Amino acid sequence: MKIAMIGTGYVGLVSGVCFSDFGHDVVCVDKVEDKIQRLRKGEVPIYEPGLDAVLARNTETGRLTFTSDLAEAVAGADAVFIAVGTPTRRGDGHADLTYVLAAATEIGRALTGYAVIVTKSTVPVGTNRKVAAALRAANPEAEFDVASNPEFLREGAAIDDFMKPDRVVVGVETERARAVMGDIYRPLYLRDFPVVYTDLESAEMIKYAANAFLATKISFINEIAALCERVGADVKSVAKGMGLDGRIGAKFLHAGPGYGGSCFPKDTSALARIGQEHGVPQRITETVIAVNDMTKRRMIDKVIDLCGGSVNGKTIAVLGVTFKPGTDDMRDAPSLTILPALVGSGARVRAVDPHGRKEGEALLPGVIWETDPYAAAAGADCLLILTEWNEFRALDLKRLAGTMATPRMADLRNIYGRADVEAAGFIAYDSVGRGDSL
Ligand code: NAD
Repeated sequence: MKIAMIGTGYVGLVSGVCFSDFGHDVVCVDKVEDKIQRLRKGEVPIYEPGLDAVLARNTETGRLTFTSDLAEAVAGADAVFIAVGTPTRRGDGHADLTYVLAAATEIGRALTGYAVIVTKSTVPVGTNRKVAAALRAANPEAEFDVASNPEFLREGAAIDDFMKPDRVVVGVETERARAVMGDIYRPLYLRDFPVVYTDLESAEMIKYAANAFLATKISFINEIAALCERVGADVKSVAKGMGLDGRIGAKFLHAGPGYGGSCFPKDTSALARIGQEHGVPQRITETVIAVNDMTKRRMIDKVIDLCGGSVNGKTIAVLGVTFKPGTDDMRDAPSLTILPALVGSGARVRAVDPHGRKEGEALLPGVIWETDPYAAAAGADCLLILTEWNEFRALDLKRLAGTMATPRMADLRNIYGRADVEAAGFIAYDSVGRGDSL
């Protein structure tokens, strides 16, 4: 199979690299020339564990190439994947389809023979038909089918998720398109996993419904966590007791500072808008968004309370700024709400993140960057754990406490426990949803 992958970001690059690893010929396209130049030299522009090795071995075979020339990549391709961004549109919360539809128009102009145009980007219901219309408008003679193939990979575990998916969802309208999609994913069939073939609208809906459901689990446990703090319960025990019920499941029941990242915030917001537009408000999703905003604000109050009611003039050492470990992605990370609020309240904020600094520097003005947790904590009044990177999971607590001006810890990922932290010399500890925290 000859595949063109339009958009070489987190999803497009991982998908393109993995498809080439299946044995397909893949050309990855991006309009950012610098990205293409770096990829040609074997440099991976994002941090994604394991991606560099798979990229290198497929570039070597010649199956994986990179170009900024979309027309060259599309000519003769059996399938053209659209994996460009669909960020939240300014002002109304809707998914911005500008990049998707612009790509569709460019693809339409470049088509030379039958191809399946596959939307991998997360797009609102009805978008694949808009893609088909844009293709047709650009090239009325073009022979093509559209397919919806939403992506479920998680940053930080993207290669594994792509190679060993729980399921692949394919929305198609013709047998011909279904056959092409079947050929593309056939190399995965050695492992037993379901392919859900469905119509375009259902495939588009599955992605939003799945993400909104996962975001619901997170907001649910975060709200339960707030109640646990009041009634003296421990949310970790509560989540464990809930999650062992097979109908509920243990995943996505970790209380924390609120969800972030490139998907949940924008996809919940887009689903809420889709519901409003169709006169079927998605009240649960709307509430999930509101609870997430409240959760992030509650974290700011926690730090301020822990510091005795004010952070003015205090030094806060922040461990982790990315929205989760294993990625350099800063999109909608809780740190982008929490850190500016602390800086705005007069705190001096020193941050450490194994891979988030490059993105974070531009997004978090006023933050001082350190490379080591102990250096960040030296002389600080509070240690704030925001991202549960492995590097922060086994810190020498005694050494930290010894170096801080007033050793206090706001452990917003529930990595440590009160007893250990206090035994190490901390004078105050707070975490999320544990009644004995304060
Ligand atoms: P991204 O912003 O990292 O990458 C998009 C890339 O597309 C950019 O490099 C951009 O330069 C390029 N691009 C835009 N228009 C182009 C054009 N006309 N021609 C060539 N290149 C073009 O985005 P992402 O995080 O990879 O997300 C892509 C889509 O996948 C989104 O719809 C997102 O919701 C969805 N998705 C993302 C994830 C994730 O974890 N990031 C997971 C599942 C689904």
